[in-house]
Amino acid sequence: MSVRVRFAPSPTGFLHIGGARTALFNWLYARHLGGAFVLRIEDTDAARNTPEAVEVILSGLRWLGLDWDEGPQTGNPAGPSLGRNGPYFQSQRSANYRQRVEELKAKGLAYESDGTVKFRMPRETMLIPDLVVGDVKRELTDREAVDPDFVIVRSDGQPVFHLVNVVDDLEMGITHVIRGEDHLANTAKHIALFRAFGAEPPKYAHIPLILNPDGTKMSKRDQGASLMTYRDEGYAPEAVVNYLMLLGWSPKDDRQILPLAEVIQMFDLPQILRHNARFDLAKLQWINYEYLRTMPIDRYCELGRSMLQRHGVFLSGYDPGYVRAAFSTCRDKVKLLADLPLFSDFYFQTDIALPAEAREKDFHPENKERLVKLRTALAGLVVFDAAQVEAAIKSMATQLGVKAGVLVHPTRLACTGKTVGPSLYHLMEVLGKERVLHRLDWALK
Ligand code: GLU
Repeated sequence: MSVRVRFAPSPTGFLHIGGARTALFNWLYARHLGGAFVLRIEDTDAARNTPEAVEVILSGLRWLGLDWDEGPQTGNPAGPSLGRNGPYFQSQRSANYRQRVEELKAKGLAYESDGTVKFRMPRETMLIPDLVVGDVKRELTDREAVDPDFVIVRSDGQPVFHLVNVVDDLEMGITHVIRGEDHLANTAKHIALFRAFGAEPPKYAHIPLILNPDGTKMSKRDQGASLMTYRDEGYAPEAVVNYLMLLGWSPKDDRQILPLAEVIQMFDLPQILRHNARFDLAKLQWINYEYLRTMPIDRYCELGRSMLQRHGVFLSGYDPGYVRAAFSTCRDKVKLLADLPLFSDFYFQTDIALPAEAREKDFHPENKERLVKLRTALAGLVVFDAAQVEAAIKSMATQLGVKAGVLVHPTRLACTGKTVGPSLYHLMEVLGKERVLHRLDWALK
């Protein structure tokens, strides 16, 4: 039988980093075995069920590249932005739940009680086999020993989580339930429901929680808990995927940078670590920098382009070769893509504004005279590359009897409008003679 797994988030308006990791582990498992990865939005709580909340989940998964495999083609409440099959929405499956409640009632396994419908829970200790945590024995609590039955339909007619979750896993043919360890507490109920429907429960794999660096449970309010903050702060999604993989799973060797294709080949559930994983921002930052430094330059340009666009700098009019050369000068210096606009926006602007204090400090009359001479020297260069530019600036400094810095600082300001950025000689090469001279002229005015 082919493997079928699912990610079943509730739309809360937020995609927790732990949820993203659950989605990733499910996706990896499906891809490893050539099975199906189903996305199911558990949106029976009408109050929270907004298209925006759904979109947060979908865009998070898309950003990470976790594509889902199937689902209804039309009628998605989240609208046309989906543009593909699926996901499944529980809010569209009420008829299935009603029918299943009737089935339980007919079998004498559910009954009406004070306007609700309750499930007749077996009065016995339950053994939960789990691929990660091992066998878990679930004894009845004192209260449950008296009455273990639980509500499956509320008095307002809404079916509850336990019921809809199980009905869907059953009807969607889910073979493996991979989810956060917080759901282990519900699993006895779920197994009992599967049996009540005359079905074999799926295999369970409860994955340890993600903790804050101080060992406390990571909640929604904790810094870094939302997946989208990583996109906004300029992490590369492939780096975030790599980091999330290592949160609770580990290859046999000690490698930290793991190509996704290789992980798909290796990934298996028993390798999921049993202890809780601590979130380590420094490690994520390191992995991110490794990816940014080494990814194909065209991929870097793609990420850079959208980051600059979000800062209102548009690259559409620029030659791809120029964009590539421009970003290449920034790669080693930029740890987070969010810093890339600061390092590179001047490449894509026509007029460079000089900061006022720099004007006074670096563009006083004496310096201006020097810069005019430098301009002439630069204008005379036949080959305008980093080496020639550097030689020209240094020899002009010698000729004028000043340190190179006296020319370097104002030249950088004129070219970029900033005091930090890529190597001056290299950025001048990329800008090219024409832009450089134009910017010097503009600054000298
Ligand atoms: N909607 C549940 C959640 O977000 C799904 C639990 C499960 O994966 O079974 O926690």
